[in-house]
Amino acid sequence: MSSPASVLDLAAIRADFPLLAEQVNGQPLVYLDSGATSQKPQAVIDAEVAFLTRSNAAVHRGAHTLAAEATELFEDARAAVAGFVGAQPEQLVWTSGATAGLNLVAYAIGNASVGRGAPASARFALGQGDEIVITETEHHANLIPWQELAARTGAVLRHIPVRDDGTLDLEVAASVIGERTRIVAFTHVSNVLGIVNPVGELIALAQKVGAVTVMDACQSAPHLPLDLPALGVDLAVFSGHKMLGPYAIGGLYGRSDVLEALPPFLTGGSMITTVTLEKADYLPPPQRFEAGTQPVSQAVALAAAVRYLDAVGMPAVHAHEKALEQRMGEGLRSIPGIRLLGDPSTGSGTTTGSGATGVERVGLWAFDVDGVHAHDVGQFLDARGVAVRVGHHCAQPLHRRFGLTASVRASAAVYNTEADVDTFLDAVSGVRAFFG
Ligand code: PLP
Repeated sequence: MSSPASVLDLAAIRADFPLLAEQVNGQPLVYLDSGATSQKPQAVIDAEVAFLTRSNAAVHRGAHTLAAEATELFEDARAAVAGFVGAQPEQLVWTSGATAGLNLVAYAIGNASVGRGAPASARFALGQGDEIVITETEHHANLIPWQELAARTGAVLRHIPVRDDGTLDLEVAASVIGERTRIVAFTHVSNVLGIVNPVGELIALAQKVGAVTVMDACQSAPHLPLDLPALGVDLAVFSGHKMLGPYAIGGLYGRSDVLEALPPFLTGGSMITTVTLEKADYLPPPQRFEAGTQPVSQAVALAAAVRYLDAVGMPAVHAHEKALEQRMGEGLRSIPGIRLLGDPSTGSGTTTGSGATGVERVGLWAFDVDGVHAHDVGQFLDARGVAVRVGHHCAQPLHRRFGLTASVRASAAVYNTEADVDTFLDAVSGVRAFFG
């Protein structure tokens, strides 16, 4: 099978990830579940341990030396993570993950809609008959908060459909996004299809009608160079644990004017200037959105993760993973009984082959094996040391669209090799004979 030799020094990279040297079920681990959560390099583990061992203190509060040191590390981490997505430090709000970021945005917009605490809420006010537009490819994290917001405000939820080949139907998008649209929320990369959505076009359609844009960058931030301000998106979220970082930390990026105009969601300590028994005045962004004690050691470790990715180089990461995706896609297509979800060779005729048509992908494929349940496939692969995801991957509507309740998903990251892909393909090719 042909694919370009990797542009990365994979032996050196793999040596940085202690867990990749482990065995599972007596087999060398082939970890292809990075779409769910990535493995962590030693530098990330060390950064969190070092903070907790030597620098731990409450940030932004204490007058003592350790508190000042912790605050400096925390704010340095903000600058590093913001810089990784092309943003300024004050444009990055810490959250506990993408789900928390999306709920923050949806609830804050809901607060603006009822006039609570908004410095300039008009842009966000939603009411009866206003529309929120999402896509059919959304993870539940970028779907249910909007369903709830629609239910609270009387707004209508509309969607952009996906075509058989996994691409979004932009013609329909142009008619769905209209005068009543107030919010357009979309994923940058689908966690089931691996396709990079045409987010520039979606943002342009939204901007024409003055709608707020919200992007889920969970599956793009670990795999592609990202410049969120250049993209022109209003708000975007990502999760640390999917990008070599620790759990319980994520980022919400916001354009400065957008964050400035957005009221808070959670309220309490650390996000105020003056409080009386009757009312409170809020700090500017990002602190306005960071009520309570923050995930400080996790932020420091996430900064180590983005420094690691930057040292490898995001263009090289993307090129490497694209080669793995092509090897995986070609291999899966050649195995009888496999149906790929969002395969360019099936579908509306607008695309004819992976990589050849302008459809960008990350190193991820979900598929169905004819006559074998996804969970059985997952167990069969696990017995051979291959870790993949099975189920609906928190995207039930998208699976329903393809006539499925579950699929198998293999997802690569910076540390995967062609040998990983070949071991995976070899195992998949034995599935139907085994369950036959
Ligand atoms: N959005 C996408 C596209 C995802 O893949 C995920 C995680 O699977 C999420 C949102 C939710 O991320 P988290 O659970 O880290 O909040």
